[in-house]
Amino acid sequence: TPLAELIASIAVDIPDFPEPGVVFRDLTPVFADASAFRQVAEALAGSVLEDPRGAALRTGPDDPGFDVVVGVEARGFLLAAAVAVVAGTGVVPVRKAGKLPRSTVSADYTLEYGTATLELHTDSITPGQRVLVVDDVLATGGTLEAAIGLVERVGGVVTSVSVVIELPALGGRQRVAPHTVHALWTT
Ligand code: 5GP
Repeated sequence: TPLAELIASIAVDIPDFPEPGVVFRDLTPVFADASAFRQVAEALAGSVLEDPRGAALRTGPDDPGFDVVVGVEARGFLLAAAVAVVAGTGVVPVRKAGKLPRSTVSADYTLEYGTATLELHTDSITPGQRVLVVDDVLATGGTLEAAIGLVERVGGVVTSVSVVIELPALGGRQRVAPHTVHALWTT
């Protein structure tokens, strides 16, 4: 798609970051580009309407198909906030352990080396609210799997999971199933 080509032309591949053998896709230049960033935010918001679940839960032509956007610390925050403004919804953060001040649910997940913990305020989502979960990159899927689990534990209905870049070789899509991942650029 034209947007995938635009993202591909602006994102920068960083070899051997954060460790030897890994090619890191740096999206910060995409965030810094006014036109590209707006198009990314609009496409992430619009992806919900392509999701059968999101489309089915839509109440009318002015309804974006979700009530709130969840973004995963830290790059997901930038995207989720923009998507929320575009769609006219609020935004809720999923954060690394120890950052949220009130009662939380938490999920441990595996990283390439070791584990990490993500947290969500227990009362940040009203049971039954429709949630769009966004992040910048889908790699192994561990991060999004944990974030989805937290949303569902507090009663949220995940209507769509959307990312800017999917790295399909790492199998993240399978890990996040049965949720469908929408990716603006698969590489
Ligand atoms: P996963 O849990 O899917 O293995 O990893 C996804 C998380 O790691 C995402 O939150 C994402 O921000 C980060 N990540 C993994 N690989 C890359 C990459 O190549 N570029 C960027 N920007 N983030 C990555």
